[in-house]
Amino acid sequence: MTEDMAQNIISIEDQKNLQGGLKLTDIEDNKRNVSENEISVGQKLIEYLKSTNTTIILPQINFEENRILFPILKEIGEDPSNVSVLDKLAAPAVNILQKETYEVLPVCPEHPENLLTTTRICCSECNSINVKKLYLVEHKVCGFIADTEIFGQKNVTDIATCPKCEKNITNPKRELRSLGFWFLCSDCGEKFDNISNKLFCRKFNHDFDINSAEYLSVPYYSVNNSSSADVDTITLLTKLSKAIETFGFSTQKFVKVIGRSGVPHSVSIHGKKEDKQVSVFFRSSDKQLPDVDVNSIIAECADLPESFNILICIPSISSEAKAMARYTGTSIITGKEYDEVFSQLEKLVAEHINK
Ligand SMILES: [Zn+2]
Ligand SMILES: [Zn+2]
Ligand SMILES: [Zn+2]
Repeated sequence: MTEDMAQNIISIEDQKNLQGGLKLTDIEDNKRNVSENEISVGQKLIEYLKSTNTTIILPQINFEENRILFPILKEIGEDPSNVSVLDKLAAPAVNILQKETYEVLPVCPEHPENLLTTTRICCSECNSINVKKLYLVEHKVCGFIADTEIFGQKNVTDIATCPKCEKNITNPKRELRSLGFWFLCSDCGEKFDNISNKLFCRKFNHDFDINSAEYLSVPYYSVNNSSSADVDTITLLTKLSKAIETFGFSTQKFVKVIGRSGVPHSVSIHGKKEDKQVSVFFRSSDKQLPDVDVNSIIAECADLPESFNILICIPSISSEAKAMARYTGTSIITGKEYDEVFSQLEKLVAEHINK
């Protein structure tokens, strides 16, 4: 341990005194926290993404089976429909993934489990779907005006003769003038300018109004670059929590710990042994961590006065931030090498909380 580090260390007893020996904080129940197994899925996932040089986890919408799948989960030996594990990894306490919207599907309000709906156009008068779109054209030379069907074709560009003057039309674009379009209902005979849209529930064969549709948001996930979500970090945190466990603590990773103020704090590792608690915060960056980031964690530590708080900063923090940490009783570990960090943490736990 360096001299510099020794100065940063305050025992848990000192911390309690510093904060006035306040009541013990509570930890949120396990259900809301991520399990060891889910962390290992996260670890495999990040490893796989790294090996394939991707950062995005895309869904596959299976309309036949009405399932939303994440094929990447299959690649790492997990159930591809296990969306909840991805949600857990995207939870603020874990923050390995970021959840975003891939697509919003309109689904039938009566059969929302059916993902496939299609759009139907229908007559605004009688709701019939026997609606045709008609294009009105004029034969420029003779002035005859009719819809394209009377000219014997569906498309303007296919018209070859004029039914009135019977002249050949060799260049429809030049010889015909387009006058617009309208819709014709074959059932009620109504002509109208605007068609109405309905959604069609394919499986149960019925229409429903677009405004009555339910909307299903299909997510995708991306690797949270701003977090410490990499294999090395997760591996390190796993090793660190094991190390803390060897001192008789039970540990949890990526948990929310409620502070004295009632505000939950995201803690990378939380250890508990009788009335002793240790909270490890972890931040990494490719350059020195900004003071503002360090200070916000120091503030969080101050809200957890019953806990021995350790902030691991990779690679370094400023001397001002160190001074702040020292003043508030937060132990700081800095370093570039993971082994270096690991041995510092072991020493801290051994010397200051395992008394
Ligand atoms: Zn339906
Ligand atoms: Zn009609
Ligand atoms: Zn003509």
